[in-house]
Amino acid sequence: MAEAVVRPVFEPVAIPLRELVPWIVFGGLMFLLMIYFVGAEQGATSIFSGMYVHEFVHDGRHLLGFPCH
Ligand SMILES: [Zn+2]
Repeated sequence: MAEAVVRPVFEPVAIPLRELVPWIVFGGLMFLLMIYFVGAEQGATSIFSGMYVHEFVHDGRHLLGFPCH
């Protein structure tokens, strides 16, 4: 005789937009900060003196196609 197996049903939980907005804003700011450091942290637009940040993100600059040298 076959027995029925009861499996729990998982339904997706809706996340209200009100709870997502702060994370979207935070992620957008982090993305813009990353783009700044990879793309513009050099020369006249640099915040930190020296070439430390530029050298740290140098491979990322070339990978993303930012003009470098
Ligand atoms: Zn370069």
